[in-house]
Amino acid sequence: MPTNAAVASRRVCLVSRCELCASSVELDSHLFLDCPFSLRLWQRFTDILIVHWPSPVSIDDFFLWGKRKARVVPIKDAWTVGMIIMMYCIWLECNHRRFDGIALEVDKVFSGFLTSMKKLSWSFTTPVSSIIDLCCARRLDIPIIPNPTRVMLEVRWHCPSPGWVKLNVDGCSLGNPGRTGAGGVLRDHRATHISAFSVFLSNLTNYEVEFRAIFIGLLRAKDLGITHLWVECDSKAVVDALNAKSIPLFVTQQWMGLQPFLDSIS
Ligand SMILES: [Zn+2]
Repeated sequence: MPTNAAVASRRVCLVSRCELCASSVELDSHLFLDCPFSLRLWQRFTDILIVHWPSPVSIDDFFLWGKRKARVVPIKDAWTVGMIIMMYCIWLECNHRRFDGIALEVDKVFSGFLTSMKKLSWSFTTPVSSIIDLCCARRLDIPIIPNPTRVMLEVRWHCPSPGWVKLNVDGCSLGNPGRTGAGGVLRDHRATHISAFSVFLSNLTNYEVEFRAIFIGLLRAKDLGITHLWVECDSKAVVDALNAKSIPLFVTQQWMGLQPFLDSIS
């Protein structure tokens, strides 16, 4: 934006003065972040979304902070759009004062900010999912997007027959591919715990980690000398691949190593 500092950097001589507080040079960081006038606006906005204003030292810092906060604030859309609209409102007020000689109070500028937020709220997609979200939406006077009703899926665990052991495994990849973890539990026909495991596994896909979870469980069953084993996992792709004996390359070696054990058990 052509603030006085930006214009001066192009070798244009001018007297730089903040139009909002008249007590400082108009640097980008002052105008949008440090100016007492702008600060009051930011504090009103951040108070609504229950965020502590950190006094960022530069515009870059400000956007980095805003990006981090977007993960935790109520109504993410209102936060990201609100940051841009607030900067626009500050810039607009600065130019009204400079070119039109019209100066609005903080209340009036903030009211204009809320009106702009309301006009743009049609594009918000974040549903209101908590009381805090609801309170923030009311204070910003933006429409409430209802949270879609979740369908409840009942999942039951069935005991194995006497003499059998059941192995339940699951794997998860944060990002797919991303950081992964696998876990499993072995239980008898009375659902009594026999053994369990949980491990962190580097960067893998969901498919890979589900396979690895099964193989870790099978190795545990082998070590325990189990002879009748029922394996259950929630990945249809993995179950289909195992039933079709279509073993991916990344677990072929483990699969071959387990063959004598798998051939010996029911
Ligand atoms: Zn100022």
